[in-house]
This record gives sequence, C-alpha cells and structure tokens, in this order.
Amino acid sequence: MLQKTSHFLRQANYIDGEWVQADSGETIDVVNPATLQVIGTVPKSGKAETRRAIEAAQRAFESWKKTSANDRAKLMRALHDAIMDNQDPLAELLVMEQGKPFAEAKGEVGMSAAYILWFAEEGRRVYGDVVPSPWADRRVLVTKEPVGVIGAITPWNFPSSMLARKIGPALAAGCTSVAKPASQTPYSGLAWGALCEEVGIPKGVVNVVTGSASQIGDEICSNPLVRKITFTGSTEVGKTLIEKSASTVKKVSMELGGNAPFLVFDDADVDRAVAGAMIAKYRNSGQTCVCTNRFFVQAGVYDAFVEKLAAASEKLKVGPGLEDGTEQGPLIDDGAVGKVEELIADATGKGGSVVTGGGRHALGGTFFQPTVIRDATADMRVMKEEIFGPVAPIFRFETEEEGVALANDTEFGLACYFYTGDLGRTFRVMDGLKYGLIGVNEGLITTVEAPFGGLKESGLGKEGGHQGIDDYLDTKYVCIGGLGL
Ligand code: NAP
Repeated sequence: MLQKTSHFLRQANYIDGEWVQADSGETIDVVNPATLQVIGTVPKSGKAETRRAIEAAQRAFESWKKTSANDRAKLMRALHDAIMDNQDPLAELLVMEQGKPFAEAKGEVGMSAAYILWFAEEGRRVYGDVVPSPWADRRVLVTKEPVGVIGAITPWNFPSSMLARKIGPALAAGCTSVAKPASQTPYSGLAWGALCEEVGIPKGVVNVVTGSASQIGDEICSNPLVRKITFTGSTEVGKTLIEKSASTVKKVSMELGGNAPFLVFDDADVDRAVAGAMIAKYRNSGQTCVCTNRFFVQAGVYDAFVEKLAAASEKLKVGPGLEDGTEQGPLIDDGAVGKVEELIADATGKGGSVVTGGGRHALGGTFFQPTVIRDATADMRVMKEEIFGPVAPIFRFETEEEGVALANDTEFGLACYFYTGDLGRTFRVMDGLKYGLIGVNEGLITTVEAPFGGLKESGLGKEGGHQGIDDYLDTKYVCIGGLGL
C-alpha cells in the first residue's frame, strides 16, 4: 500500500473536527472484496454519536452560512486540488474496499474533484429575483438561503463520488453536513473528513459517521435540526427514509435503483452499439445504478449484436482491481454473486441460453465471468429486478413501438440508452422513453455539468448541473412596503 493511502485510511468517525471512536467501542470489519482479507475496522456508531454530529453541524452552520460564496468557493477549490494531488492514493483506497479496477477508481476520484469544482462555481451563481411589483409602493424580492444541516447517506458502489454530489452542493450553498457512508466502503467516505480537515474547512461543517444504518438513519430522519436528507441507494431503503422523514417534514432527494434498458434498432451502427454496451453493462462489474439491465435488440440485427457482444465480453480481463490491465474486478460480496447466479438460473430455466460466461470465475472468491444470455423473455426475473452484476440478457423485438413499450415496462426510470441512425426515430424514441437520463448512441453519459436523477421510483431531485444545488436552498419571498414611493 502507498504510504499516502494509509494516511487516508481513517478508522474513526470525524465529528466536530475530531477523530473519535463509537461510544461503545464496537467496530465493523472492512473487507477487501478481491482478497477477502480484513483491511481494517471503523466505529459501529449509533444514535448518540449521530446526534452529536448533527449538533456540531448545527453550531457550525451558524457561522458557515454567513461566509461569502466567494470564500466558500476558495476553500472548495483547495479541496478540489487536494483531491487531485492525492488522486492515486485515494483511488487505491477505493479499490481496496470496493474492488473496481484502478483506472475506474481513478476516474471516480477525478469525478469527485470535478463535482467540488463545479459546485464551487455554482455557489457563486445562486441568484434571487427582483420581481415586478403589482403594488406601486412596495417592492417584491425573492431570496435564496441554505436549508441548514443536511444528512447524506451513500452506497458502496461509488463511495467517493456519491458523497461529492452531496457534500459539494452543501458546502457551496452554505449548508453543513452529516454523512454516513456504506459500511462495506467507509474509508472513501472518511477520506472526505481528512481532506476537509487538511484544507481548513471549519470544524463541524462536514462530519462523517460510520456504523449502524438503521440507528444513524433514524436519528438523521427524526432529528428536527436536519432540514434535508439526501440518499443514494436502493429504492427499498429510500422509501423507508421518505416515510421516516415525514415526521419532521424535511426536504428529500433520492437517487434510487434503476433497470436501464439499452435499445438497438435495425438502423444502428452495431459496432458502436457494442462498444457502448460494454461500458454501459460492465463498468464496476455491472454494479452501477445506470448499468444496462436489459438489452432490447431489433430482429434484423439481433444475431449480429449477440455475437459481437459475446466476443467482446469474452475478451474482458477479470482480476483484482490493483493488477495491471484489469477491466473487471470482483463483485462486492457473496450475496451479490448468489443473486446473479439465481437470476441466470431463472433465465436459463425459462428458455434463455448462455452464449458466454454463466458462472463464477476461475479466480474464485467473488469474481464472476462476464455473461451474455440470448433469447431473454419478459417473464424472466431480469426483466424486473436490478441484476447488479456482469450479466447481459438480450431480448428481441420487432417494431419501434414494441421496443419502447418493453423499455418502459418497469417502475424504475433512471437511465436508458438507444442506438439508431435515424433522426426522426431519435426524437420519437427520446420522447417516448420515461427516463431521467437518456444516452443516444452513447453508453456513458454522466458528467458534472448535467442534472443526474431518476423518474418514477428511481428517485426525486437532481444531482449535478445547475439544478444540483437547488435542493440545498430555501426560497424566501420578501414584500417591502411603506416605501413612500
Ligand atoms: P442500500 O442497501 O440501500 O444502502 C445504501 C446506504 O443506505 C448504505 O449506506 C446503507 O448502510 C444505508 N442503509 C441501509 N439501510 C438503511 C436504513 N434502514 N436506514 C438508513 N440507511 C440505511 O443500497 P446499496 O446496496 O448500498 O447500493 C446499491 C443500490 O444503490 C442500487 O439499488 C443502486 O441502483 C442504487 N444506486 C443509485 C444511484 C443513483 O444515483 N440513483 C447511484 C448508486 C447506487 P449500510 O451500508 O450500513 O447497510
């Protein structure tokens, strides 16, 4: 391990500028999914530690909200630079706890820095309005101000960048935060504490607490000091958090599960579609919310697409994320492997055929073969459930209407992709797809400049883009009368 990486491997909560253990002294083991070895531990905190973090954040809010957007932007630019100066050690830490290939981890860390820079700039453009007044003697103003303390809960698949999308707009807007990273990948979350400390972000502005999900989550939801909760994770947990936040009527932003369709029409460039499919399917071993879950391919190019995708999948180099040339790392844990195996068994039991892969990789552990299944049908579980693994089920369709209807046949609405060479079809299909993110002839579309977020049961609110700061702001209307005008 690089010396710098161990500097960021913090085995304590970051509360009010101090590195502290859980009150009980209990800890949670953190396991490297590639080696199944324990890397270290983190505190198993609960309600009391979370309450203290929230109270510290509230104290810090009183002064942080009064700083100028320009001063906050200066600190955020320093934070951006600190991330980029430490891109390699932060990426190494991420690979150790999460498993993804080093190049992907480095990309994620770079993306985290990019979000911080983006929001540093957006914070300086939080405009209000001066509204033409309907009264001759009054003036009408609309102002924006930070909501207050925010609670942020994040998943294990992007342990660094999912926090960047929350800490970034919070810092820029003048909010303070209490973050709870996923228990399987807490170090990239705690590294945010170390980085904030290093660049001089005042104590209490950013707090990171690890431990019991339900206890930390319950305190964040029920504590009236927390004015907004921002969550990235499964739809199931997101629904619980929305319910629990109702008691204190908090703002909620939810980045939840997906079931991304990837449509290939007869008029598409099949080679381009296969190149896009490889990224949209296998990035992070298929464990991203925007990963393709279902490929729908029109009859005229079906066989060619299956053959080419299988050939490309066979060439993927599976291995530990820190090994040179690795393109696909392990799955996060044995439960993930078990789910993928079940879904493959269900698909083959209902008439699907495995073209390549289909089982655990020879490397053992949680490594899995990139898998392509042809002749997928709508009665299979892969039609409805998030696979979250390197399995590509390929369905056949005949007409454009049928393809779009199949793509929309889900309660999710996060990302989708389609490939066509026809301009009219591009607009028809784009209009027909009920998704928050649409890639047309592109398989990787996330960028800090654009609003990221799902429709339907995939979520509420947007992260990134100029929209990404909105949820961290309250809007106030001020009517000034008696002006003697
Ligand atoms: P998860 O089980 O929902 O966990 C996400 C986070 O919520 C973790 O920090 C987890 O803590 C915490 N949590 C679990 N139960 C909780 C509770 N009762 N109260 C409060 N917090 C609780 O999801 P995951 O398996 O880590 O992540 C995969 C899911 O995230 C997929 O569905 C994926 O699509 C979704 N995702 C969505 C986006 C998006 O932008 N839309 C991005 C990435 C991932 P512990 O780790 O301690 O259990």
